[in-house]
Amino acid sequence: MQLIDGKKTAAEIRAGLALRFAEAIQKYGDPAGLAVILVGEDPASMIYTSNKEKACREAGIASLMYRYPDGTPQQEIISLIEKLNHDPHVNGILVQLPLPAGYDENAILKCIDVAKDVDGYSAYQIGLLNLGRPELVACTPKGVLALLDQYNIPLEGKNAVVVGRSNVVGKPIAQLLLSRNATVTICHSRTADIADFTRRADILVVAVGKARMITADMVKEGAVVIDVGINRNETGLCGDVDFEHVAPKCSYITPVPGGVGPMTIAMLMANTLTAYLKQHGN
Ligand code: NAP
Repeated sequence: MQLIDGKKTAAEIRAGLALRFAEAIQKYGDPAGLAVILVGEDPASMIYTSNKEKACREAGIASLMYRYPDGTPQQEIISLIEKLNHDPHVNGILVQLPLPAGYDENAILKCIDVAKDVDGYSAYQIGLLNLGRPELVACTPKGVLALLDQYNIPLEGKNAVVVGRSNVVGKPIAQLLLSRNATVTICHSRTADIADFTRRADILVVAVGKARMITADMVKEGAVVIDVGINRNETGLCGDVDFEHVAPKCSYITPVPGGVGPMTIAMLMANTLTAYLKQHGN
């Protein structure tokens, strides 16, 4: 069994991106920037946004943080997004989710210029992915594929099973695996017998949000298991996979923490570079 080290892979990717940003900024003589909008004081969101600020600093690009108290009128946030859409020094815009209750997430996200949609949540970016012409792909799915590539795990012709079908994680992961010619099955909360599918998986990706729901009897000997889940318990974080018992059966497996998690921010930086280059005619 080989552990897939997301922390190390993400650090290497981020170091490479810092060099690519420096080259691009020098070539175009234009600074690069990512705008992050945080509404309210959700503790996890505050950690995520400060990690994004740190990643921008390391990449040598500006991070423009906009913090609003819960209760700020929705129109005020939309007006800010419209201003940022027209700001040439803002290459990417993201709204930290979830928004506090009472905000219409879709109405707000819809206002982000699709060329600056570095989270890849817009119908336009999802459409491009589904058409096989990806530009800005949702960061966690992109991170899953990057990890599989980093470890040279073949996908073509493999049975890939994705458990979870959210628009931001499960579905785009399935699309990416399909784009690499895997045969993809998507399981969800209404799947009659999930184990029947997971046991056939050469590549098993789990993105559900239920601690240790994938047990050893659900996994084929030699499978590659990617655990996207992040669940908080008394002792810290754990994934959707019962790591201790599943790992001995796998050829490769991601730990939680230290697997997919660190890749998400690395891919946010990659998307910001893609957006920057596209906005400069590349
Ligand atoms: P989500 O929107 O809640 O979607 C969960 C999915 O799991 C849904 O498709 C749901 O099915 C399915 N599901 C729920 N219970 C199930 C069960 N018992 N059996 C099979 N499928 C079941 O969550 P998400 O945003 O996709 O996130 C999934 C997990 O990934 C969470 O733990 C989240 O914290 C984590 N995550 C990690 C990162 C990272 O950076 N590593 C980033 C994003 C999310 P239905 O569609 O039928 O309801």
